[in-house]
Amino acid sequence: MTDTTAPSATFPASSVLGYPRIGPRRELKKALEAFWAGRTSAEDVEATAAELRRRTRNRLAELGLATDVPAIPSAFSFYDQVLDATAVVGAVPARFADVVGADGALDLAGYSTVARGRGDDLPLEMTKWFDTNYHYLVPEIGPGTTFRYASDRPVREFKEALADGILTRPVIVGPVTYLALAKPTEDAPDGFAPIDRLADLLPVYADLLKDLAAAGATWVQLEEPALVSDSVAVPAEQLLASVIEAYRALATGLARPERPAILVAAPYGDLGAAFPVLAATDVEAIGIDLVRGHVPAETVPGLSTKTLVAGVIDGHNIWRADLDAKLAVLEQLEGLGAASVTVGTSTSLFHVPHTLEDEPALDATLRTWLAFADEKVVEVVTLAEGLTEGREAIHEQLLAAGDAVRSRRSAPGVVNPAVRDRVAALDESAFGRGPFDERKVAQADRLNLPPLPTTSIGSFPQTTEIRTARAAFGKGELTPEQYADEMRAEIRRVVELQEKIGFDVLVHGEPERNDMVQYFAENLDGFAVTQNGWVQSYGSRCTRPSILWGDVSRPKPITVEWSSYTQSLTDKPVKGMLTGPVTILAWSFVRDDQPLGETANQVGLALRDEIADLEAAGIAVIQVDEPALRELLPLRVEDHAAYLDWSVRSFRLATAGVRPDTQIHTHLCYSEFGEIIGAIDGLDADVTSIEAARSKMEILGDISAAGYPRGIGPGVYDIHSPRVPSESEVEELLTEAVKAIAVDQLWVNPDCGLKTRRYEEVVPSLEHILQATRAVRATL
Ligand code: GLN
Ligand code: ZN
Repeated sequence: MTDTTAPSATFPASSVLGYPRIGPRRELKKALEAFWAGRTSAEDVEATAAELRRRTRNRLAELGLATDVPAIPSAFSFYDQVLDATAVVGAVPARFADVVGADGALDLAGYSTVARGRGDDLPLEMTKWFDTNYHYLVPEIGPGTTFRYASDRPVREFKEALADGILTRPVIVGPVTYLALAKPTEDAPDGFAPIDRLADLLPVYADLLKDLAAAGATWVQLEEPALVSDSVAVPAEQLLASVIEAYRALATGLARPERPAILVAAPYGDLGAAFPVLAATDVEAIGIDLVRGHVPAETVPGLSTKTLVAGVIDGHNIWRADLDAKLAVLEQLEGLGAASVTVGTSTSLFHVPHTLEDEPALDATLRTWLAFADEKVVEVVTLAEGLTEGREAIHEQLLAAGDAVRSRRSAPGVVNPAVRDRVAALDESAFGRGPFDERKVAQADRLNLPPLPTTSIGSFPQTTEIRTARAAFGKGELTPEQYADEMRAEIRRVVELQEKIGFDVLVHGEPERNDMVQYFAENLDGFAVTQNGWVQSYGSRCTRPSILWGDVSRPKPITVEWSSYTQSLTDKPVKGMLTGPVTILAWSFVRDDQPLGETANQVGLALRDEIADLEAAGIAVIQVDEPALRELLPLRVEDHAAYLDWSVRSFRLATAGVRPDTQIHTHLCYSEFGEIIGAIDGLDADVTSIEAARSKMEILGDISAAGYPRGIGPGVYDIHSPRVPSESEVEELLTEAVKAIAVDQLWVNPDCGLKTRRYEEVVPSLEHILQATRAVRATL
């Protein structure tokens, strides 16, 4: 129960759940990569990181967050927040025992080794963080994992801020989410689940909380996004029971001021049944996502002693908020009778770029519709003022935000009547091709491929020469013609290599593409691109998502010249290469003023035009990549059907216009299909390539059991690793595949594109793939 003698647990009126960590000019990335390359010392990286943290704190204070109450989160990470939790609780896998210090802590070199692996010791597995394009490192927890309070980094970073005169709020992944996201160690017995270790983990969190309180922390933020998702490995009932157990131990079991007040934050979705459960615990505050989630329908027991940190500002997208509408939500929330309502972000802001101030080249009107991290902080502060002092106090800001909303609604390009009319006129026939059986015969006649046809996924290594040429072109040092010449020379090399090795269906290698989404965004109407809008994808890696702001259409053909040129070099079929509508949406900042399905259909139509032009140019095989199909899968099961419906339809809209003898391929970057196997069938692609090398073709059993009739290319080369697979290894995989799936369905290809690999690895790997294929063909 709340201890009345404890210092006040008043939560700041405005705060944010987190902030970009990589630095406005990707300073952290550069520092880490220099350290990994052996060019700098750990001290240098620590100094850069400390400077970044200091700049972040000062910037947040300047933007209006309080410094005497913990409005500013202490949420830095060198690589990943889940890895940080692993370091704090000392759960480093046994294969890395030697990099752990005598005190149980990881230094920066050890931490990097766990994140990146070394030699045969694979790094922690990386996987998508909820429905974002951020990837976290999966903890490995077994019955024998020992938990200990091994790293006090959160305490040190809190003290660092305090020494600067700023009282921060340390942020760490909460115990339930930590275990819910973990996977069992390899030696764990069947039936073991990491969440079974909750009781052993909680004392470590308790130690951390006590240590934080002793250092002067008044609040701590425990991140529990697992509570908004049905996709975590823990069944719903057990998840709720775990919440009760965890917060009974941490909140009820520790009296303040022995611990800081606890904010449990639940970003990325609706808390649903977890809301009343959390309200009934003794935590002091609950952070709810009011962008993806809803204002709870009614009050619940326990709420009258809680602060609700209202995540009304979208941490996951870049649109300027309609402040008036957000105030209405806040007022509605106040009606629930919580002890107080404060203003915050729906998620950490690390999914959006630092600041619009870094985008001088952005269209002036578009700019007024946007808010990056810094601008969102100001929105939060403004709303808090409006909530406490009334609308009058923020009259001008309300007007300005309203003007932006109206300008966005009526600006040219946001609604393009020609695009709208075209979408409205579509009938069902636009979404379906003829029967697969007929297509199969027509394609076999046209393509004349051997059994187990070989191909690759699209990209070849992006060499220094390619990057240099692109940079020079960007700076105007190469003319478009000179640049195109260089790219054509690269295509010739890639074609020659594939012919020499003996591939059946060739690709052009994608040298002209900076990124598989941005390239299309730059060539379609309705998109804008940023100069410095980097967001962390994983570790030191960042992407620069484009902004999809208006109705999408294709002003002119995009890839046709490249594909035709490639086809002119060879008698083998060349595969046209496009990115699918769902992936274009997933990896861009997408307009939030209409349903995603409508936007996806517009992109689908633009791609349909491109595909028609490729077909007319004589391209017989066209691949439409959808690696993000699973990433956008909603976190709640009840939302799956609607999502799968619109996503699959947009792909079909893109691809269904072709003749029966044109072969459509798709590529998906993973092999865990469970929830979307029906959707893959729904795509109706003639051939689907998937990742399968690491999981040793496991997925093929399910595919054949499901009676899947179309072509399938299970990857035989794990391109995420520099390892070169031997011929016999590939042969073994193919032998497995031939056992599991009808030979006339099987294709042979790597797991994914080759752009991040080096030719030294790629050439022998591809040679081994072809040798193995020939060997297995000989046994058929
Ligand atoms: N065609 C793309 C490539 O080969 C596919 C990349 C992906 O699946 N992420 O690079
Ligand atoms: Zn892939």
